[in-house]
Amino acid sequence: MINNSNYHVAWCPFCNQGWVDIIKDSLTSKLFLLCAECDTLWDDPIDVELGNPIVSKMEINMEEPILKEIKDNG
Ligand SMILES: [Zn+2]
Repeated sequence: MINNSNYHVAWCPFCNQGWVDIIKDSLTSKLFLLCAECDTLWDDPIDVELGNPIVSKMEINMEEPILKEIKDNG
């Protein structure tokens, strides 16, 4: 679990108790969205709004992305 992330993007629609943050898989550099409270994971910001999470929390080497990476990924 990542605390003190600077990349809050949405209020979690699932647990309604935590922020959804942008995280990065350090192996693939792919960006994900993770709820800090319930660990629900999404791979697209649109999916957060639709309430359509990735089924299971995958093996991701999480790290905070840099701002450029977020911008590059829209
Ligand atoms: Zn949540």
